[in-house]
Amino acid sequence: MLSKKVTVPVPRITDRKVRKLLLCGPGPCNLWPSVTEALTQPILSPLCDEYFRIMEDIRNGLKYLFQTQTDLVLAISGSGHAGMETVISNLIGPKETMLIARRGIWDERALNMATRYGINAVEVRIPFTTTFNLEQIEDELQKWKPTALFITHGDSSTGTVQNLQGLGNLCHRYGALLIVDTVVSIGGVPFFMDDWGVDAVYASSQKALSGPAGISPVAFSKRAEMKINRRKHQPPFYFDIKMLAQQWNCYGNTRVYHHTMSPPLMWALRRSLQEICTRTLPMFWEQHATITAHFCKRLEQNGFELLIPKAEDRLATVTTVILPKGYDYKEYITYIRDNHNILLFGGLGPTAGKSLRIGIMGVNCTRETADAIVNAMIDALKNLKKCSL
Ligand code: PMP
Repeated sequence: MLSKKVTVPVPRITDRKVRKLLLCGPGPCNLWPSVTEALTQPILSPLCDEYFRIMEDIRNGLKYLFQTQTDLVLAISGSGHAGMETVISNLIGPKETMLIARRGIWDERALNMATRYGINAVEVRIPFTTTFNLEQIEDELQKWKPTALFITHGDSSTGTVQNLQGLGNLCHRYGALLIVDTVVSIGGVPFFMDDWGVDAVYASSQKALSGPAGISPVAFSKRAEMKINRRKHQPPFYFDIKMLAQQWNCYGNTRVYHHTMSPPLMWALRRSLQEICTRTLPMFWEQHATITAHFCKRLEQNGFELLIPKAEDRLATVTTVILPKGYDYKEYITYIRDNHNILLFGGLGPTAGKSLRIGIMGVNCTRETADAIVNAMIDALKNLKKCSL
């Protein structure tokens, strides 16, 4: 018996039931039923054959998802930010320059991270309701000669999608690598890593992939791999892509232990990828485009204003909507949650207090969901008018 008495009393942790909501913010999204089931698959030891077979399935699924033939593709333990951290810290050393094409909060986060690594982070900004054109970027590449350009494909804080065609070539002409955040676009919006000359990309599992957060796909091109092999700096141990590539057997003969990954999350990601492979990417992209176009049309028919003026800049997975004057965003979201069981989000970063952010993606990308959200939004306008105006 230990002689010392415990001084911290036993806490009251009771059973807790949580209401299941239709998650229609910019993420997380609801899970595919098959993914919920996958989460209960057996826990595997990190050095058994089944574990390596799952990793191989995930890597093959990710090559399809990113549309790349690169060897250096794997998933990081952690949410989207871990992917961001991995890409930045592995590719760019202290005092090197990273150019950030800034239009939303994720670019601001990248700038924050880069600064912590001693990277010379410079930015080019545009109004948050717009996207970049090649000329705007070229001027800055010329001026800064950066090691890499960071840009966000789908921006969930603004509801915009950045056209990436031609950007890889442009960056390479100026000796820069192209880093892309696809956290909220991957699976829901066309993305072609190899064709577009993207050198490093990260994504997440909890948006259009309809899985749980906590495991984040990343991929690096040959050009990026060369830079990593030449680098003089050390990235954080946990995110060191050279070590992770060994754990993930990226080159065919290195099954080693680096850290204990979460088998439930690996099973889940594998299952999300299987769902996407069954649907095929072109079909799934088309589904997101069609459903969101229908959603936007119905919103406009019912007097709502979309935040992003140009239709081609609007993101197919997350739509930003301005509420008519006199309504309180918080009150509006709470009404819809309490009366319709649907969770919408308010603005974030540049859109805070200026718009709603509504995600229709992955398992929730259906006409029924889009219609249910519009109907709930109309109902909220009717019922909140008296108290809000
Ligand atoms: N990038 C984008 C575009 C995102 O939408 C998010 C999350 N909403 C992140 C990065 C960060 O991802 P996480 O919250 O999974 O760390």
